[in-house]
Amino acid sequence: MKPVIALVGRPNVGKSTLFNRLTKSRDAIVADYAGLTRDRHYGDGRLGTREFIVIDTGGFEPDSSTGIVKEMAKQTKQAVAEADIVVFVTDVRSGLSAQDADIARFLRQANKRVILTVNKAEGMVDSPLLGEFWELGLGNPHPISSAHGQGIRSLLEAALEDFPEDEEEEISAEDKPIRLAVAGRPNVGKSTLINTWLGEERLIAFDMPGTTRDAITVPLERNGQKFELIDTAGLRRKGKVFEAIEKFSVVKTLQAVADANVVVLLVDATIGVSDQDAHIAGYVLDSGRAVVIAINKWDVIDSYQRQMLERSIEQRLAFLKFAPVLHISALKRQGLGPLWDAIAAAHASATCKMPTPVLTRLLHEAVEHQAPKRGGTSRPKLRYAHQGGMNPPIIIIHGNALEHVTEVYKRYLEARFREHFRLVGTPLRIEFKSAR
Ligand code: GDP
Ligand code: GDP
Repeated sequence: MKPVIALVGRPNVGKSTLFNRLTKSRDAIVADYAGLTRDRHYGDGRLGTREFIVIDTGGFEPDSSTGIVKEMAKQTKQAVAEADIVVFVTDVRSGLSAQDADIARFLRQANKRVILTVNKAEGMVDSPLLGEFWELGLGNPHPISSAHGQGIRSLLEAALEDFPEDEEEEISAEDKPIRLAVAGRPNVGKSTLINTWLGEERLIAFDMPGTTRDAITVPLERNGQKFELIDTAGLRRKGKVFEAIEKFSVVKTLQAVADANVVVLLVDATIGVSDQDAHIAGYVLDSGRAVVIAINKWDVIDSYQRQMLERSIEQRLAFLKFAPVLHISALKRQGLGPLWDAIAAAHASATCKMPTPVLTRLLHEAVEHQAPKRGGTSRPKLRYAHQGGMNPPIIIIHGNALEHVTEVYKRYLEARFREHFRLVGTPLRIEFKSAR
């Protein structure tokens, strides 16, 4: 499970600036997908090979900056409760304030690992002004500059000290179960779907949560294919069924999505694609996981609603065009066979093997059919391609002057590769490596 870092502090100290800096590199990947609106509160970050989730509590605060701790929005408390590490942001230019002291008191009681940062400290690493922040009783203040990117790496190293590097994932996963996450807003029918599955399929065993960092996973088997269901709904076993006892948690959703091979994105047919759905879909796109969109509660809507729904999916989930859309009723047990087939197909696509000779031949055919445009004085030369990863599949194209390949041309190549390998339900990433 990815560690979770919450950014906490009074308004204007630079939390959003820090958030943007910590999540920037990931944002760039999905910068220009139509319809994708970013959730400013949650993002993915990375330090070397270590990945983490960042929560910016800034947007959760009440507008007025009075009595922040008393009024500290419920979400901020929830964010702190869900975080593994709290980064407390203060501002050296406005100095230590009474609000900072209040927040420090709250954080000391929260019993979390807290990293104290003093922001806006560009060019002030040795300034005596940093000294007063010791008074907060939260240890060594880390001087950083979110705006200029100073001190960020050592901040992250301190924050992630207790979290080991991710182990290299083996590429071949043939006998491993397909890890499956069901994501969606509250009341969309996650628990109903999971219980329906468990009622229909052979339930082999189940794990109960050990520590709070362990998600529940439920092993399932269907037609000889093993699955492992990762909980996103805060499920607890109650008698024969699972019941959602925790409230909806974005952090749980993010962690489960990151941990899954395939995500079933549930949308409520009676509501259409809401902002929250679009945000969750954005996390799924970021994660690179395979995805199947399942429109639930199909049993209760009329033909007019169906039309509206189709339009809202086209408009608001345009960036998930590669994902198949299925219509189901978790309650009435309708459409579940096709859903399983789509999950299996998405997984097969996401883990598809793409031999270098085939990729290189496809690349040459594509260039022959339509050559990339000249950029400045040089024309990009696409020489060969190999597979750089799975789930999501990554195709790395080697050549010269590849920085001149346009986004449009990249999409053209993507479409050719997709067609050949019949990829469904998985994003495909294409990267370029120019020879020097
Ligand atoms: P938030 O309310 O805590 O999210 O704070 P913001 O991220 O919106 O930043 C508040 C103001 O501080 C903005 O005008 C930022 O440009 C500025 N700021 C943020 N980080 C730095 C920094 O490292 N140095 C300086 N000088 N200004 C900063
Ligand atoms: P969760 O919060 O996502 O776990 O949602 P639940 O599984 O608790 O479902 C919320 C409500 O939607 C419950 O009243 C369910 O009975 C209802 N529901 C779930 N699936 C369907 C469905 O396919 N059709 C209809 N009509 N209702 C459903």
